[in-house]
Amino acid sequence: MTINFSKGDGLVPAIVQDYYTQKVLMLGYMSEEAFTRTTETGLVTFYSRSKGRLWTKGETSGNTLQVKDVKLDCDRDTLLIQAVPNGPVCHTGSDTCFDEMNQGRFLYQLESVIQDRIDNDRADSYTNRLYKKGINKVAQKVGEEAVELVIEAKDDNDELFLNEAADLLYHTLLLLKAKNKSLGDVEKVLRERAG
Ligand code: AMP
Ligand code: ZN
Ligand code: ZN
Ligand code: ZN
Repeated sequence: MTINFSKGDGLVPAIVQDYYTQKVLMLGYMSEEAFTRTTETGLVTFYSRSKGRLWTKGETSGNTLQVKDVKLDCDRDTLLIQAVPNGPVCHTGSDTCFDEMNQGRFLYQLESVIQDRIDNDRADSYTNRLYKKGINKVAQKVGEEAVELVIEAKDDNDELFLNEAADLLYHTLLLLKAKNKSLGDVEKVLRERAG
């Protein structure tokens, strides 16, 4: 892979993207040495301009970034690293440094809303109230919604059918949260099955 390091003091920007969810996670800079280290270890390693040395992301926090794929832009001076994060990427504890962008497709955004309702322990939130009843209650609700969807599938009322499908997806997201799992975890399984 021929990278053009000649433009910015021997450093190129490296955008890190989540391999599974496609979210933009963070941006760092890589020297040739940092890039070599990254490919040799399989862990994203930047040249830290503030530290003035190579910096393997997660070296103290343990929140490393496992490299899955590396791509170059059109004129070979910017890297796109697709990686699987091992824990929160941002030092704030957020899964991405670009949290404000509300990234991802709608189901991922809904997952963030669910997380927000739980984090803020909102008493007026149906999501939070059901979540606090525990895994069994949430799972039971998923079962009910699945049955309702099956019933509507036999009819030809599109609106009712779509509403039940929406209920099932939403409650499934909540069940994943109750089990400390995420939509990304499910997507990973499906992608691995697809090969
Ligand atoms: P870590 O590499 O995760 O062990 O973190 C080491 C140092 O880098 C800490 O001082 C963090 O504040 C800083 N740091 C960690 N993650 C990021 C990030 N995504 N962007 C900028 N600085 C970070
Ligand atoms: Zn470029
Ligand atoms: Zn950050
Ligand atoms: Zn329903």
